[in-house]
Amino acid sequence: MSAPGGADTERRLAWLRGGELPQTHNARTIAALASNPGCARRALLDAAATRKQDIAEHAGFPVPFGMSPFALSRGVVFERQLKDDPGGLLLALLRETLNLDIAEVGFTDLNDVGGSPDLAVRHARTKAVLTGRPDQRGTLFDHPLLRFRVGGRHAYLEPDLIAFRHDDTFHVVEIKSFAVIDGQADPAKVAAAAIQSAVYVLAMRDLVGDTATVHHESVLICPRDFANTPLATTLDVRKQLGVLERQLSRIAAIDSVLAHVPADVSFSLDADEKGVPQRDPGDLLRDLKRVDANYSPECLASCELCYLCRDEAGGSTSVLGKSVREELGGIESVPRALKLARGDDPLPVPEDLQEAAAILRRAAGLRRDALGTAWAQTR
Ligand code: SF4
Repeated sequence: MSAPGGADTERRLAWLRGGELPQTHNARTIAALASNPGCARRALLDAAATRKQDIAEHAGFPVPFGMSPFALSRGVVFERQLKDDPGGLLLALLRETLNLDIAEVGFTDLNDVGGSPDLAVRHARTKAVLTGRPDQRGTLFDHPLLRFRVGGRHAYLEPDLIAFRHDDTFHVVEIKSFAVIDGQADPAKVAAAAIQSAVYVLAMRDLVGDTATVHHESVLICPRDFANTPLATTLDVRKQLGVLERQLSRIAAIDSVLAHVPADVSFSLDADEKGVPQRDPGDLLRDLKRVDANYSPECLASCELCYLCRDEAGGSTSVLGKSVREELGGIESVPRALKLARGDDPLPVPEDLQEAAAILRRAAGLRRDALGTAWAQTR
């Protein structure tokens, strides 16, 4: 392969993707991107809209992301029972949860625009419908195709929500298949749903052009206990909106990331006509490693490249987590931190590490004393 000469941003991103169709984002991928705004590798893989899971697998680090087929089909059945009768069960839940007095609703599915696969066409239709004339406005809109600005570029958001409008205010409605058992849901899943709702709220606000008309309270609908009986609750996502906006503002514009990446780096899988990757895995891995990463244990919950980056970061203090790395104040390797703690590092301690080295020595001394006492007590 030879790199494109003098390519602009779009051409370089297409080169990185290697002839594949761009993947659409969803709220999970945006939330994951925002969770590590300092990672150039992730920013580039996302900006180029690559198949991250396939890339990780082909490079030798597969990660088991995604739902089990059982959970998927259970989720589909649960969602269908609500959407097949929007004026019945769904409306009753929304009325009760938001304390509204509405007798009937219109339901518009924005998924299909004359069979066009063109995302720009689908987005334009969503915009026209959601911002249309008041006398033509509906109430429930399924699969609105939204756009989101990430790193200076727009990314399309694959629809996974219902927009509910009442009194000219929208609420995001998310239907999730994780269960609420005895009134309790898995806190990690609720937290993920809240940050995803915040992504949708921001994207909806961008679409309608008015922050006030998209409410910060979303509606989360989950199955109750072990049945498919739906339970709705509100989620106040103001905190998540603040976090997300802060994180997104820290994501560097993709042009400045590209400026530090050699022009011949490519994440192409060189897939054949059946979609089977033909590229040499070692070559792909080398190119991935030519782009800086910023690994932390949080990546394990949010990024498809996590096993690769964890392996690469082995021995560095970043694998111990952001707070430990910050506490170690610039000491980048675990063996070095241990040597400094023992006071037997043959290298001179640079001035900027002397404070951290002194703290490590003191901590090691305290540990020795504590273990010594405990050991003496057992005798
Ligand atoms: S797993 Fe790797 S690529 Fe993904 S966010 Fe973490 S450091 Fe970046």
